[in-house]
Amino acid sequence: MKPVASPTPDTQEWFDRIDAGELTVAHCRSCALRFLYPRMCCPDCGSRSVELLPASGRGSVASWVVNHRGPEAFAKEAPYVIALVRLEEGPLLMSNILIDDPDVVSVDLPVRAEFEQRGERRVVQFVPEVETT
Ligand SMILES: [Zn+2]
Repeated sequence: MKPVASPTPDTQEWFDRIDAGELTVAHCRSCALRFLYPRMCCPDCGSRSVELLPASGRGSVASWVVNHRGPEAFAKEAPYVIALVRLEEGPLLMSNILIDDPDVVSVDLPVRAEFEQRGERRVVQFVPEVETT
């Protein structure tokens, strides 16, 4: 089976909410920074007043690579896209872009989140917002 994350105390709630089908971003109540990965202290001002806010699930490709030889669990998927997605709320999230033709991926390609069930967990991946073929 494809791997799933092993949450830390800082990321447990974020992954639990993904398991419930909700993508969130961390938000600092002191300086308003929105960030990922989630952690208990704001990476900018150091405040511990951090909460998770619902995210729209929409974003765009900031950067990507096409992997032609994945590790065993992903070997059958190759070639597949690993991307940094700039969420509408601001933070970057690394994930896969699920797409038949990796050659159509480009910077700023609009994408939206989808949740894949893997055992007892869910994983966030992205699909193009509009049909690309
Ligand atoms: Zn802050």
